[in-house]
Amino acid sequence: MQPNSFVLFRRRLLRWYAHNARSLPWRDVADPYYVWVSEIMLQQTTTQTVQGYFDRFIKTFPTIQSLAEADLDTVNRLWEGLGYYRRCDLLHKAASEIVARFGGVFPEHDEDVRSLPGIGRYTAGAILSIAFDQRLPILEANTLRLHARLLAIRGDLLRGEANTRLWEFAAEILPRRGSGKLNQALMDLGSLVCTPKSPKCMECPVAAFCESAKQGLQGEIPSPKRKEPPEYRTEVALRVRKRGKTLLVRSPEGERWAGLWDFPRAESELPLMLATDTALQERLAKLTGRKLIPGRLICSLKHSVTKYRITLLFCEGTDAGQSGQPHLGALCETRWATAAELQEIPLNSTARKLVQRGVDRRS
Ligand code: SF4
Repeated sequence: MQPNSFVLFRRRLLRWYAHNARSLPWRDVADPYYVWVSEIMLQQTTTQTVQGYFDRFIKTFPTIQSLAEADLDTVNRLWEGLGYYRRCDLLHKAASEIVARFGGVFPEHDEDVRSLPGIGRYTAGAILSIAFDQRLPILEANTLRLHARLLAIRGDLLRGEANTRLWEFAAEILPRRGSGKLNQALMDLGSLVCTPKSPKCMECPVAAFCESAKQGLQGEIPSPKRKEPPEYRTEVALRVRKRGKTLLVRSPEGERWAGLWDFPRAESELPLMLATDTALQERLAKLTGRKLIPGRLICSLKHSVTKYRITLLFCEGTDAGQSGQPHLGALCETRWATAAELQEIPLNSTARKLVQRGVDRRS
């Protein structure tokens, strides 16, 4: 697309946006805190899923200060079910930094914003352009696909020359004023019209500027991702109870469910002979520092994590005391939780399912 087309491109896009903008709770207030929370929640998560979480989050933590002062368990409990829990941890850390370094006021300089935990180029551009109307580009899943099709760029869009060219284009098309609005219009066009499968080119307000539409390449750009073949595994989680309390472990930093609590859980290669699965017991001892012995099966459930198809066997467990293996220190924080606490503390999705089914109670 030639630079002399940008004015007409923007006019057509904004005319479409005036009638088709998505109504989203974080758009009603141009508050950088709202934009920030919504953008973090929207990473890897659909807008539809985020809406309910966003409302609850903002109601509980209406300001950056209130988020910084909350303990991480309370924040994680509100995040429960959204996935990618590291986002939540970084959001909480960044709120504390904003209070410590900027007096609780969201910074307005790109460099300062990008120095905060969990905020990269895209998120900073979204917050600063939408909340402060700064002329900064954005490139997320919707605009990445849209721009790649507009320019007919193939290959790996996330790296190298293709990615550099897409960022350049995202910056070039911004007007001197109204960049926040234009960025939102581009995201909505990508989400509603230039969809991943079967883009609605006949309804597209900028079809006249689209190289892919001219060359009939919409179905080829972006190139479809190669799907990894699934891997099947069995994991065992134990219900270990003592004096009415249940043993839980907290997933350590760097893990998928970092910060959330779970029943003691490990992989088993001998699901039909759990009582003799010493490798399973060693894994559990490494996690908890305790010798845990699997007993009868309570129930099982299936779930998927990335390429893994997991069968989770939930079993009674006995605590036979400290593991007695000094070289096996407990990797995870552990706690004994009452039935009431199980409702309050943040659990990962499978542990929550088990609690909701009532399997935390003595049957
Ligand atoms: Fe996307 Fe089609 Fe519009 Fe091109 S014409 S931007 S492929 S919807």
